[in-house]
Amino acid sequence: MVRLLQKIISLKMSFPVKEKVTLNFMTQSSPLAPKDPNEKLIYKRLEKETNVNIKWKNYTSDVFVEKRNLAMSSGDLPDAILDAAYGDYDLLKLAKDGAIVPVEDLIEKHMPNLRKVLKEAPEYKAMMTAPDGHIYSFPWIEELGSGKESIHSVDDFPWINVEWLKKLGLKMPKTTEELKKVLIAFKTKDPNGNGKADEIPLAFIGKPGGEDLAFLFGSFGLGENWDHTVVQNNGKVAFTSSDAGYKEGIKFLHELYKEELIDVEAFEQDWNTYLAKGKDNRYGLYFTWDKANITGMNNKYDLMPPLAGPDGHVNVTRTNGMGFDRGRMVITSANKNLELTAKWIDKLYDPTQSVQDNWGTYGDKKLQNIFEYDKSTKMLKHLPLNGSAPVELRQKTSIGGPLAILDEYYGKVTTKPDDAAWRLNLMKDVMVPHMTAENIYPKVFFSLDDLDALSTIETDLFAYVIRKRAEWIQNGKVDKDWNNYMKELDRLGLQEWLKIKQSGYDRNHK
Ligand code: CA
Repeated sequence: MVRLLQKIISLKMSFPVKEKVTLNFMTQSSPLAPKDPNEKLIYKRLEKETNVNIKWKNYTSDVFVEKRNLAMSSGDLPDAILDAAYGDYDLLKLAKDGAIVPVEDLIEKHMPNLRKVLKEAPEYKAMMTAPDGHIYSFPWIEELGSGKESIHSVDDFPWINVEWLKKLGLKMPKTTEELKKVLIAFKTKDPNGNGKADEIPLAFIGKPGGEDLAFLFGSFGLGENWDHTVVQNNGKVAFTSSDAGYKEGIKFLHELYKEELIDVEAFEQDWNTYLAKGKDNRYGLYFTWDKANITGMNNKYDLMPPLAGPDGHVNVTRTNGMGFDRGRMVITSANKNLELTAKWIDKLYDPTQSVQDNWGTYGDKKLQNIFEYDKSTKMLKHLPLNGSAPVELRQKTSIGGPLAILDEYYGKVTTKPDDAAWRLNLMKDVMVPHMTAENIYPKVFFSLDDLDALSTIETDLFAYVIRKRAEWIQNGKVDKDWNNYMKELDRLGLQEWLKIKQSGYDRNHK
């Protein structure tokens, strides 16, 4: 009888709850945001709609992880942690210790918005699910384009100085040989016209990331990306840096090095050094996510299309990036209001709410708004930034946390941010036609044992690959070293690494 009664009450529990309930949440936010998250308009509206008061322990991002770990180890647990920043290792350890609770039943019973997301995009359910079959956290999902057209498909866009091309009467290079000739002209013909040979034909930061020249390897085979991992169309996971084409790519880069076309600081510079030379417009070709961050949103630089290699091979290697963060929110074992908490979190997954969680809101009378709400179309439309830095503006008003923005929301629920729309068009027009791989390597949820093994292997293996690459580009000799290199990769655990990555991929793709 009591059970039945509880069931009836639970079915009827809906927002706003009749009597105000308080939940204790921990979170983090930018130093630019209000100290008390409840001052944010988004949370004010949520409290009004739900009659649930959130008592926050809010730490600024710089100290958050330390404070979070302290609280969790002292046993002084909040009910939940929003913007938890937990990696896979943390999640599995906390679950093992019983500090956080599995949430798959809560999703099934109380979270229709999240269920709808997972129905429309089932690949996320596989990625949320731990190897033991449980779900321990609520993810952040931000799609901008999907499949090959995803904004994450290529991180290191190559930006070429079209002002210099024009001045020297050169065409946009289409092959690696043409690129070499262009770079030689940049070096020797004083395209900036100051009488000095101060041009830097080819610039990059020689470590994994958006400023690396990994893109250029696409002309020679599988190509390269930051985690050296691609999935071939037969479903086999491959390690890019042991591919025969990779060796040819190195030889080409060594040719450029011999011609003194490569930035002498490429292998040691940091972002600020790279940025400073870029701002002075000294680069012929350089790499980054978005040129606006380095040389500005002007017509001096343009995206260089993928180049054909010596045998005509063209390939754009996909980056294994996606807008998915598994451990964005957790519920702790101290929580006595699981149903209510789940329902509150589920509100964050409502499409219109998710968009605001992520970027900011509308109708704020005190702060600059990210959106205006169009009542007739029920759409949130991005407003012009009017000179404000988008990240700063977002940090003041958005809440982050668990949310889901699927690609099909654009044009229905919201508009795309201008910077993203521009980059997505470039991706589609210039890069997508040359992407050969049908799949990327997804964010597989590995077991603790696998995570241990992978991280142990990767520490030495990845460092070795980057070190050898830098050596070979500068001193050549890749042919002579290659067999020993391949042996050393195996000694460092490459075959074991491939086995774990392959079985993770297969598990994810069942
Ligand atoms: Ca010059």
